[in-house]
This record gives sequence, C-alpha cells and structure tokens, in this order.
Amino acid sequence: MSDRETATGVIGLVQEFVNTIDLQDGPDELADSGTLKAWLVARRLLDEADAVGDADYRHAIALREAMRGVIGANSGLPAYPLDLATLNEAAAASKLRMRFGADGRPRLEPEARGVVGAMGRLVATLYVAMQEDDWTRLKLCGRQACRWAFFDRSKNHSSRWCTMASCGNREKARRFRTRAVTSSG
Ligand SMILES: [Zn+2]
Repeated sequence: MSDRETATGVIGLVQEFVNTIDLQDGPDELADSGTLKAWLVARRLLDEADAVGDADYRHAIALREAMRGVIGANSGLPAYPLDLATLNEAAAASKLRMRFGADGRPRLEPEARGVVGAMGRLVATLYVAMQEDDWTRLKLCGRQACRWAFFDRSKNHSSRWCTMASCGNREKARRFRTRAVTSSG
C-alpha cells in the first residue's frame, strides 16, 4: 500500500525486509529462494555468484518474522524467546565481528560468506537501526491480521495502525460489532 509510512536508511532497510510480505492481503515478495536471492543481491547483501538453497530460504523467512517480533516491542508487545533465539543464531552463524573500516569507523561485519553472511548483515543492520533515535517510531500495526511494520511520524508517537483508512477503520468496526454482540446478549 503506497500510503503507508516508510523510513529511510538502516531503519528503512529493516522495515523493507519485514514488509516483503503483506500478511493480510499478500503477496510475498520473497516467495522462493530465487526471489530471495534477487532481493538480497539488489541490496548488495549477497553476491550474484552465491547460491541460495531451500534451507537458506527457510532461515531467511524465520529471520524476517523474528525481526517483526522485536519491532513489536515498540508497540508494547513482549519480546518472544523464539524470536530472540533466531536472531542470536543468525548472528552467531554469520560470525559477526566488529571491524574498523577504511573510513576509520567501526561496524559489525559477518565473517561468513554467502546467504549466512547476508543474514548476518541484516542482523547487523537491525543492531545499528536499534541505536537510532527514531527506532521507536518503527511499530507493528495493531491489527492482528496485518502486523505491517510502519513508521510512526505522528508528533506524540501515538499511531497504532499502518493506515487509519484501512486497518484503523476495520479494527474500530470489528470492536464496535464485538461490543454490540456483547451488550445485546
Ligand atoms: Zn495494518
């Protein structure tokens, strides 16, 4: 949906990865290992020469949902141990190391190559994004069926839906119906 708010920079990359699937209406941009590879190569996270297998694909999809999980903390949701374990495993498998680059600045880089390294780069991106002041503006839509990662540009950080027009109104209508049923029963 084009009217949903997007972030830029590292927060934007995390948001873009998580939102490669629209859980409510589809589609999934990362439908198979081929589309996953194209997505990673286009963002310079993976070399064109690297192969992406079915197991790699399943890891990437699990990592995507683990990232969605930790974004939920910005919407008041608890951190789930499974999500944290998935993130920790991706970081460990890729052998993330702190390294000073040619510009004299430190960054986290994976020692592992291929898709495992690419997953490490995504975890490192998440780590950097979480240090940014705007990180807490990245939230999950409060509509359970949606859970889209949106960037809350409201002054007091009070937005709860990816868009008021779609999820906000649908959720209000659902709650109204629930109340109506409860009070008539
Ligand atoms: Zn939504």
